[in-house]
Order: sequence, then structure tokens, then C-alpha cells
Amino acid sequence: MTKTRFRTGSLKQAAKEHTLRLIACIAFLLMASPVFAQGVQQTKGDFQDKFRQLDEVLPDPNVYRNASGAPGHQYWQQKADYRINAQLDEDKRRITAQATISYTNNSPDTLPWIWMQLDQNIFRRDSIAETTRTFGGSSSNGVGVSGARFNDPARLSLGQIRRQQSLVDNNYGYEIGSVRLSNGTALKYTIVGTLMRIDLPTQLAPGRTVSFKIDWAYNIVEEDAVRARSGYEHFPDDPRPGGNDIFLLAQWFPRLVAYSDYEGWHNKEFLGSGEFTLEFGDYDVTMTVPDDHIVSSTGVLANPAEVLTATQRQRLRTASTANAPVFIVTPEEAEANERTGPNGTKSWRFTAQNVRDFAWASSRKFAWDAQGHRQPGAKNSTVMAMSFWPKEGGELWRKYSTAAIVHTMKVYSRFSFDYPYPTAQSVNGPVGGMEYPMITFNGPRTTLNEDGTRTYSLSEKVFLIGVVIHEVGHIYFPMTVNSDERQWTWMDEGINSFLDSVAGYEWDPDMPWTRSLPRDLIPYMTSNQQVPIMTQSDSVLNLGPNAYGKPSAAFHILRDTVIGRERFDFALKEYARRWKYKRPTPADFFRTIEEASGTDLDWFWRGWFYTTDHVDISLDTIHRLRIDTANPDIDLPRRRQELTGEPAKVGVELNRQQGLPIWVLENPGITDFYDQNDQFTVTPKDSKKYDSFLESLDEPWMRQAFDRAVAEDANYYVLSFSNKGGLVMPIILGLTFADGSTEKMNIPAEIWRRNSRQVRKLLVFPKGKELTQVVVDPDWETADADIANNHYPRQIIPSRIEAFKSPDRNSRVGRDLMAESQGAQE
Ligand SMILES: [Zn+2]
Repeated sequence: MTKTRFRTGSLKQAAKEHTLRLIACIAFLLMASPVFAQGVQQTKGDFQDKFRQLDEVLPDPNVYRNASGAPGHQYWQQKADYRINAQLDEDKRRITAQATISYTNNSPDTLPWIWMQLDQNIFRRDSIAETTRTFGGSSSNGVGVSGARFNDPARLSLGQIRRQQSLVDNNYGYEIGSVRLSNGTALKYTIVGTLMRIDLPTQLAPGRTVSFKIDWAYNIVEEDAVRARSGYEHFPDDPRPGGNDIFLLAQWFPRLVAYSDYEGWHNKEFLGSGEFTLEFGDYDVTMTVPDDHIVSSTGVLANPAEVLTATQRQRLRTASTANAPVFIVTPEEAEANERTGPNGTKSWRFTAQNVRDFAWASSRKFAWDAQGHRQPGAKNSTVMAMSFWPKEGGELWRKYSTAAIVHTMKVYSRFSFDYPYPTAQSVNGPVGGMEYPMITFNGPRTTLNEDGTRTYSLSEKVFLIGVVIHEVGHIYFPMTVNSDERQWTWMDEGINSFLDSVAGYEWDPDMPWTRSLPRDLIPYMTSNQQVPIMTQSDSVLNLGPNAYGKPSAAFHILRDTVIGRERFDFALKEYARRWKYKRPTPADFFRTIEEASGTDLDWFWRGWFYTTDHVDISLDTIHRLRIDTANPDIDLPRRRQELTGEPAKVGVELNRQQGLPIWVLENPGITDFYDQNDQFTVTPKDSKKYDSFLESLDEPWMRQAFDRAVAEDANYYVLSFSNKGGLVMPIILGLTFADGSTEKMNIPAEIWRRNSRQVRKLLVFPKGKELTQVVVDPDWETADADIANNHYPRQIIPSRIEAFKSPDRNSRVGRDLMAESQGAQE
């Protein structure tokens, strides 16, 4: 009596099958159309064009910046050259200095005044940075100490109290002694927070240079107390009476405010997070320091015979051709040095050409090693990679610092240009990580054990190698590709975080690097604490993930998923080449990457850089379709066959188990035609319909295509996707077939161009190739936030997925690298 079950149990199912078959027929006829028309609706008034061209948002191209993203044919930039004499008073922790600054106006504009940056004024208690410092907010640069962040108004950290005390106890900020022309004429100046306007007696015409002198002094901040990008660190426990200091000197001289074609003077106050917008120039700097100090500095040492011993000079020569770091000052010599004191002073003179800034470090605690890195054919064919560290840096620094510098240059130069300067230095001090031309400050150290030995943890090792790569990488971006850090942190930190993660994985793929891959950014991209990447640096919430992690993730996706390595690397290199020693804007970057890779990426820049959408593509349903032969003798038995898997009606089955009699079986004489045959019995009407269908295929190609499709009996699937995160992205599919084979498929993001919320896609596989499983983004390469809706059929998601979504924020590695990205250290 199975036929009764067929008839009664299958009506609804049969109707559904019928619908799908109709769809199959449409799909068959419309196979040339990639979008499956039925069921995908845009809601009127709710339309979002995520592929709209970005030119509506970007500034118009002009003679200074052209439409291809390259410098225009009338590109110009100013030049600022400095000759500085500086004296370091170790006991008073004070800098006194005199500078002669030559400013060349290459712009087409006549300038009535000059603006200078007085960054030390950020530490004045009446600075905008101090007076607008909010309590308990996120990204409160300089407030968090020891990784603590305070959102509880009832709690005040000791670090905050110490900071307040330090600002009260010390007069921080610039003391400007005099400002005058080279001929001695005093110049009128006006100080506005961290800026100073110098009025020129004669307007500075295009092509002209003005030289002027500034005398100044300032008290060096204690870095541990105020959290800054420079400062001193005191070591009270050193054997020398009174202890020793490490001095890291940066933002230590009045610097020219940038004057650019897109903003004129850049009068944006220094608030702490937004770093520096600077001009290139040549430097000749002499620092007078205690005569037992070692100085590391931007530039090349111009008077080695006056400050180094013959032995040290010989060691430097040896190091320049060595294949491993050579000590110039050994750790033993440094430890001996830090026990005694100076006999007077020494003056170290450094020169640097075409740099955007100048920083230095000084201490009697420094050991110093060096290794020549060779770049055949480059302007600087040998670059001296050098590290300076106190005994607290120990083996960690001896093993990894200079090696990481060399590794960085090898990797970064592949993506950009030869390392552009003669030295690359890494200095250990109180700053967690900060970059300047040719010199970087890096914080990780060893831990002193109770037995007097020093060890380091894996996280300190990861932090040191990672931070050296990152900070030395900054010598490319933005020290050479001079992007505007005050406006757009992502342009240097994002590109640099991307490249530092590339370099990290090329150093050792098994190290627990964090934060820069797409999968690392999911918690941030799904959080509420965010603003678009294209937000001015000081207004960004969560600077680390916003300006470091998210753009890095975006570049990994562009490189490995959207554009492909060869073309992406070519485009990034072209950007670096075009803007080396020049000042690019975001538009120049976006346009160059598109033009050099030959890819329209407006949708990508729009989604990733101008919105806070995240990636979450859901695979909602898969319908399998079969082409009907239309021949009732084939189709109807096949449909009957397909229904055998359907369960019986529960009530009917229970009746059977109960042994209840069935009338028609008890009374066989009552049955008629309909009881003898089911709905799948071929009737003359069916046969006639088939004949008229074949006749309707009146064009020869129709019959050909139909016969071939029937003969091939391919597998047709319609996959329905919805975009739950908002970002339009390529749909990457991992396909598994019944025969055990797998296939990866990449559908470009343009599939979303007519409907950014829902799309359907028809996939066709030959007979015998039956889909059993489909996974969206099987390799986690797009930062897809919800893995659960990626699987079809759905799967139980193992708990490790949750683990990766919520990284342990208390782990040392996580905390250190997050601290590095919080703004206090960059
Ligand atoms: Zn950085």
C-alpha cells in the first residue's frame, strides 16, 4: 500500500518540487545572466550604491597631484635646513640650544610669516592637550600606565597621580630665548600653544630663502612619569652615586610647520595622538654631552676622531663588512662605564641630508653593536645597522636588535626602494617604540632575577623583534614617504603595520605575532567603539586597531584575496617610488594603487576606509536544481523515485502500528482508476504536452541546447547569500563534492553591485559532481565576523572560534603591542 502513502504524503512536497523545476527552467533559459532574477529585491528608498566612484569624495586632481595619484607636473614642497648646537645638562636634565634655520620657499605663494612647531609645549599645564584631557575615555594618550585603562570614575591610577605631580613640579615647555635674522635683527614672534608664528620683515617670495636664528632651552620630561615620545629615564639603582640616566631627545627643537599645496600652513595643534607633519631638509647638529656618554643620532658621525677611541673606530670599520654584529662598545665596557662619572664634556657632530626630522640619544649606559648591511647598486651601498642598549637590555638586545634591523631593510626594500639613508639604529630606553629618521627608540628588556641573572619571556622577544621591525620600517613610511601623520595616522601606521607583519611572518611564521591579519581585527570591526579609518588622528577612538590593525588587515586582503600578490606588490612599490621624499595624501595612495594594479577599488576604499561596516557574508540557502527532460516517461518516474525518502504521516503510521483497519483495503471492490495509479502515472495528456513542448522549440539552437542539457544532466545549484556586515567583499567559496574532491572559488566583490544586501549565484557542475558542503571564506582571509553562517549545511562551531574572536587582552604580548599602538608609543 505504499502508493497510498505517496499520494497523501507528497502533495506539498510535489508543489515545492514543481516550483523549483520551473525555476530550473528559467535558469536554464537565462543561463547567460549571472544574476538570478527571481526573489532578490531592492527596497525602494533603501538603496545603497557601494560601488559609487570615490571621485565624489576625493579632492580634485590638479597640477600638484594628478588624477593618476602621482605628483603633478608642478609638484613642490618647502625645504628647511638646520644647523644646531645643543648642550645636554645631565644633572639638570635640560637642553640648551641655538639653531640657524634656513627656510626655502618653493611654493608659488608669497609668505608673510613662518609657523614653527613647539612640541614640548604640549607638556605645559595650560596646553590644549592638557586642558582638554578627558577622564576615563578610550585612547587617553599618556594617561594609562602599566597597561591600565580607567573607565571607572571612582578610580584614579597612581600613574595619573604621578603624571600630575610631574607636571606641577617641573616647568615643561620651550623657553624661547631669542628669534632673530642672521644679521641680528630681532623678529617678532607669537606663541600659540604648540605653534609659533614668526613675522618676517620682508615677505618671503617664491624661490627665496630666509635664514634666522633661534635660541631656546627646555627641561626634559621624565618619560615614565608623563608618557611621551621622548624623555629621560633614571636608573637610581646603578652603582654610580646618584644613578644614571638614558636620554632620548626628540621633538627637541623648533621645527618648521609644513606648508603644503593642499592645506597651506598646517596649523593643527599637537594634541598627542596625531604625530608630525614635517618638511625635508639637511641637518648639521653638534651635541655637547658628558664625556663618558655614547651618542646615537640621526645622521652620520662627522667627527669620530674627536669622540671615539682608536679601538672603537677600528671596530666600526670591522663591523662595516661583517656578517654579524660587532661590538663597538661591549656590554662589559658599558657596565664599567656606568660605574664612574664624567671628567668634562665632549661634542658629537652629526650630519644628515634630506631628512624630515632629527632625534638622538645619549647615555653612559650604552653598549653598542653594528653590522654593515650591503645594498649593491644603491646610493648607500653599505648601511650601518646599529643598536645601543643598557645592561637591562641584555642578551635579548645582543641577539635580536641589530639582526631585526637588517631583516627589516631586506623585506621593506623589496616592497619599496633601497634603504634611503646611511645608518639604521635601534636604541633602548624608556619609550616603548618610536621612530625618527635613521634612529628608533624601542622599549623591551630582560627581567632581573633574584640570583642576579637576566632572562626574557617569549612575549618580550616577540615584542622586541616586532617593535624593531615596526619602528625601523617607519624609516620608509613616513620618514621617507612623507605622509601627513597629524591628519592620517593610518597612512604611516597602517602601511607599516601591514609590512611589519609581512616581515614578521618572513622572520618566523611560528612566532605569536598579533593584531595585523584580517582575522585579528574581527572583535574591533564588530565593536561599537569605532570611527572610520579616514578620521583625523586625534579624534580616532582606539587608535591601535583603527589606524594600525584595520588598514593592515585591509592591505592583506587586497594583496592576498582581491588583487593578488604580484599586482598588489607592484602597485605598493609604485606608490613608494612616486612619493619617496615627497608628501602623499590618501587620494594619492588610493589612486596610485588602483592605477598601478589596474583594479577599480573605489568600493573597497569606500567600505573599509570611510565606514565602520564589517564583513559578514551569510550563505543562507542552497537549492539544487535539475533540468527536466520534459518527457513524462522519464520525469514522472524520477519524481516518484525522489519522494521515497519522505517520512510517513505520524498519525497514519500510528494507525498502522495500532492495527486499525483501512476501509479501501477492507473493501477492495470500491477502488477505481485513481487508486490503481498515482499522480506520476503517465497519461495521454502528459504525452501530448511533451510533444507540444518539443514543437515549441522552434529555433534549431533551442532544441540543440535542450537536448544537450538533458543528455549532460548537469548539477545546477543556486546559492543565496546575504550581506549582514555591510562591507561588500569577494565571496570566497570552499566547495566539497560527493566524490571527496574540493575546489576553491573566488567570486569578485562586483557581484554585489546591483544589490549590496542579497545575491544569488548559479553554479553548474557536470553530472556526477554533486555538492555536499559549501563554506564561505574557508581560510579566514576576509575578516568575516560570523563563522557560523558561513557553513552550508550549518555546523556546530568549535569553541576555538570564540577563542580567536576574544584574544586574551591580559597576555603580555597583547598588552605590550596594544600599548605600543595606544598612542604613547608609535
Ligand atoms: Zn608605528
